[in-house]
Amino acid sequence: MADLWTPLKLLAWTQPFFAGKGVDAPRLTAELLLAHALGCDRVRLYLDFDKPLGDPELARYRELVKRRAGGEPTAYLTGAREFFGHRLAVDPRVLIPRPETEQVVELALPALPEGGSALDLGTGSGALAIALALARPGASVTAVDLSPEALEVARANAAALGATVTFLAGDLYGPVAAGLRFDVIVSNPPYVPSGELPGLQREVRREPRLALDGGADGLDLLRRVVAGAPARLEAGGLLVMEMHESHLESLPALCRAAGFASAEARRDLAGLPRLTLARMAGTAPGA
Ligand code: GLN
Repeated sequence: MADLWTPLKLLAWTQPFFAGKGVDAPRLTAELLLAHALGCDRVRLYLDFDKPLGDPELARYRELVKRRAGGEPTAYLTGAREFFGHRLAVDPRVLIPRPETEQVVELALPALPEGGSALDLGTGSGALAIALALARPGASVTAVDLSPEALEVARANAAALGATVTFLAGDLYGPVAAGLRFDVIVSNPPYVPSGELPGLQREVRREPRLALDGGADGLDLLRRVVAGAPARLEAGGLLVMEMHESHLESLPALCRAAGFASAEARRDLAGLPRLTLARMAGTAPGA
């Protein structure tokens, strides 16, 4: 009967199966995995929705469905995730870029003139650095990560997308040449309080712990990002950080204590405090 499985029937079967397994967005997930198994895009599925599939294609799809039901994130199975309109390759070496992180790019861009400079601390897949570099091709963008494996992914993404980014291996500001100052610093470092890690969704627990674990209060890395920023920012420069909702008060306060002229938290579309934006005194050179 295998020859009677069409995309339409497979999707109709998989959707409730995924729903029963607690998989988010069951229909979309089924479509993404089927398109991946067939080597086509999602639109193509609907053009050929009545065309029976061959055994190798079915076997590929079944394997993906099994792994997804077992808790592997969809983006690791398809090997890709959209971020800010760009298709990034992702695998278990890097955190999967989240849609809410696009807000970091949106808030940073007005402070990054053509010909300006940006620093991304803890770049992972390269998402933030690449999005900034592609939006401001004349800007000089530097990205740092502690994980050499993550940097391999980030470098390949930048090359594939034609983004010019200088990647440096090391700990936060450590590998950045002394004396360099930036118009903008962005960071989505690990910020989950360690005690919350065991309670994270099973999919998130498949992601690198190094990209998630922010220590007891989640602020281990963010504290150091803030402390080092004033010496690395131009006058009027901007620091944009993603954070945990519990950092709503503490992170802006840390920024003010570190010498920023102003600092405020921002909420995402779901209403969760997600970002802190801090500005140095003075007028930005490009403003
Ligand atoms: N947003 C991620 C989560 O929800 C955390 C990412 C991070 O620590 N930078 O788990």
